[in-house]
Amino acid sequence: MAERRQPLDARAHCGDGDSAAREAGAQPTDATVDRIIVALEAIFKRAGTWKRGRGADSGSFDCPNQCGGVLTYSRAASNGHLMARCSTPGCARFMQ
Ligand SMILES: [Zn+2]
Repeated sequence: MAERRQPLDARAHCGDGDSAAREAGAQPTDATVDRIIVALEAIFKRAGTWKRGRGADSGSFDCPNQCGGVLTYSRAASNGHLMARCSTPGCARFMQ
């Protein structure tokens, strides 16, 4: 008899409750979207837009949302996917 594999529970690795909020149908507020846009603009201003062959990029700087936190970002070389997170809980955090 073949061994049955247990499905991986991705929520077990998150640890911050965001996936539970997502499952509950929580939608980002306008303020959250505004903070993400401000963060994105600051990252693009600092790092430029992604172009193939440009290589990976990452960095940290004072959050442009003036929350007192530090915004950390990384951008993949292969496809330009951008991940960013502010150190202040509830500020900007996203993947695109
Ligand atoms: Zn922030």
